[in-house]
Amino acid sequence: MNRFERVNILLTGAGSGIGRATAVRLVAEGGTVLAVDLSEDGLRRTVEAATAEPGAAGRIVPHVADVSDERAVIDAISAAVGELGGIDVLINVAGIHRTTPIDRLTVSDMQRLFTVNAVGTALFCREALPHLPDDTGVIVNVASSSATHGNPYMSAYSASKGAVLAFSLCLASEVAHRGIRVVPVSPGAVATPLTGADVLPPELDASYYQRIRSPRGVADPEQIAGVLAFAASRDGGYLTGAEVRVDGGSHT
Ligand code: NAP
Repeated sequence: MNRFERVNILLTGAGSGIGRATAVRLVAEGGTVLAVDLSEDGLRRTVEAATAEPGAAGRIVPHVADVSDERAVIDAISAAVGELGGIDVLINVAGIHRTTPIDRLTVSDMQRLFTVNAVGTALFCREALPHLPDDTGVIVNVASSSATHGNPYMSAYSASKGAVLAFSLCLASEVAHRGIRVVPVSPGAVATPLTGADVLPPELDASYYQRIRSPRGVADPEQIAGVLAFAASRDGGYLTGAEVRVDGGSHT
């Protein structure tokens, strides 16, 4: 499939996990990607992975930026316009996770979660929209299944992802007159460093998470990347203003 030939994509969170798998998928399908992340090393590894296939060289440009920094977001948009020649698709993947039992919830944790996950996503949308083409422009925002399903110790993270979801649904209706689609995608558990490093402290009861496990196990990042690519492509052309939940049926 070459669904992204002559399509310029700005992708955040491209230095690891779901973002890296998405970058590889988009480049493999002919796309040209400005790959944004905090981690220079992560981006280097993503570029290596994405350009392993013949013909991919030069179609992924790394760009180090903090998505929660307004100036850095504006600069990333300028880099995409300058280096790729425009932006057709924006995919917001960058995010952070915290396990925060309610008695240990801090204002700084809460603020950081909202600033990176929700404000960062909103800033990229605001700055990209003037550049996105009418009728074919697409924004895909990664939320989380925990935005709509109550999981213990995740209240702050889930609230920040609920903000991403609500923001995306409102934005979809606001830009509908331009024919631009906005699709929030909510993964369940995915095997990436995000959750791997954030295990629950032993004194907390983890049995709930065993009970809601998908019969299909934990997703590979590539399984989420496939859905993000679908949502961003012309195959997802009738998809907008609705949450796409990719959780392997973990709550059924
Ligand atoms: P990941 O492997 O940790 O990748 C996230 C990437 O975002 C990292 O490269 C990280 O860089 C980058 N990032 C973090 N803060 C940033 C910032 N302020 N500016 C720029 N880049 C930043 O995690 P992942 O699992 O692929 O998660 C991707 C998205 O999926 C997140 O939004 C996450 O909330 C969502 N999600 C994940 C799961 C899951 O189970 N993994 C489930 C539902 C939703 P550093 O490594 O340098 O921090």
